[in-house]
Amino acid sequence: MSDYNEMWKGLGLDMERHDQLLNALGAIYSDVYMGQKDRPKGMEYFDFVMSEVHGLRIKELLDHKEKGGKIVGTFCLYVPDEIILAGGGVGVGLCGGAQFSVPDAEAVLPRNLCPLIKSAFGFKLAKICPYFEAADFVIGETTCDGKKKVWELLNNHIPTYVMEIPNMKREMDKALWFNEVKAFMEKMEKEAGVKITPEALEEKIKLVNEKRKAIQRVFDTRKANPVPISGKDALLISQIAFYDNPERFTTKVNELADELEERNKKGEGVFDEKRPRILVSGCPMAIPNWKLHNVIEDSGGVVVCEESCVGTRYFTHSVEEERPTLEDKVKAVAERYLKINCSCFSPNEERIDDILRYVKDYNASGVIHYTLQFCHTYNVEFVRVKEALKKANVPVLEIETDYSEGDVGQLKTRVEAFIEQIS
Ligand code: SF4
Ligand code: SF4
Repeated sequence: MSDYNEMWKGLGLDMERHDQLLNALGAIYSDVYMGQKDRPKGMEYFDFVMSEVHGLRIKELLDHKEKGGKIVGTFCLYVPDEIILAGGGVGVGLCGGAQFSVPDAEAVLPRNLCPLIKSAFGFKLAKICPYFEAADFVIGETTCDGKKKVWELLNNHIPTYVMEIPNMKREMDKALWFNEVKAFMEKMEKEAGVKITPEALEEKIKLVNEKRKAIQRVFDTRKANPVPISGKDALLISQIAFYDNPERFTTKVNELADELEERNKKGEGVFDEKRPRILVSGCPMAIPNWKLHNVIEDSGGVVVCEESCVGTRYFTHSVEEERPTLEDKVKAVAERYLKINCSCFSPNEERIDDILRYVKDYNASGVIHYTLQFCHTYNVEFVRVKEALKKANVPVLEIETDYSEGDVGQLKTRVEAFIEQIS
């Protein structure tokens, strides 16, 4: 690996803490990922990305900045990548998935707040995430209460632009959202000093659509039994989608999908076909949050699909291509994003329909509903999810957890019992 110390120092990172973080990350990755049997060859690229996650990719981002491009940090699927890219920017997901930075955040924020928010905020406070330090500005959004109040604080540390995301999907909400996307495009133009043309937007719409289709191909192969890829590996791909160069990522995911489709044809899998198939549904899992998948696959189950922002919510639905004017194209972008079914919306019937459909499509034997502690929207929505699954005779287990390792033993006991029940 190259020596990136000068680059990290130049970004103003706390070098000692950053070293500790990288060492911890390397150890967890090796523990969770490198012992898996029969991994697809195509996963080598994603191992490489992880080995360079604070190295090569950061260098690429800094090179992009040097050429005048902007680095835009995001925390939510509703922030349209197409607009960032059309403005000559690069979007990077900054959601925190590590316990490492939670105590830094808890020195300022209340402890009874979702770990994803605390982890991200802690990374900025402690200056240990090079993506945060490379970003020119970040985009917050009015989704859950915790996030929208934290943006006010984050703005003291990095310019934070907030997009108003409606909480309902009526005609008037759609109009509000369309205007928000337009305002965001103007913000992007102002920051980047460019005028977004219809051609540029169309090109990026196609690029992001291709990226989504590539991930969809990988997910489709997971419908087979035996599964050609572990849930942990599939999760990793969804997580890396938020950081990697989109063109290269799409090529590599398509290569992997070719390999997995071949495996399906030959009936080859990574696990015994008798393993109970689990659909994981709920809160997002940002890198390096592999806790639940690791517990499930260590306990004799296999994760076949994630109804999650690191999963189906990321790639389902394309933006309609080739609309005539710039205004129409922006509208197409806004329409696609409002089809994401996040629990911050009310009502959110479509998410329940999605879960029931994925249970069938992926032939899942049960659902594990994953809620991050203090995430009220997913937590409360689970009541309706549970009712719907009960009606459909689908076994479900609810897991509410944080990023600490303290409850892993207890989680394992519960997941093992669930897997035995559905075996
Ligand atoms: S769960 Fe909702 S608020 Fe969180 S990233 Fe996904 S879409 Fe955004
Ligand atoms: S997991 Fe829930 S509480 Fe945490 S940021 Fe996402 S929506 Fe908000």
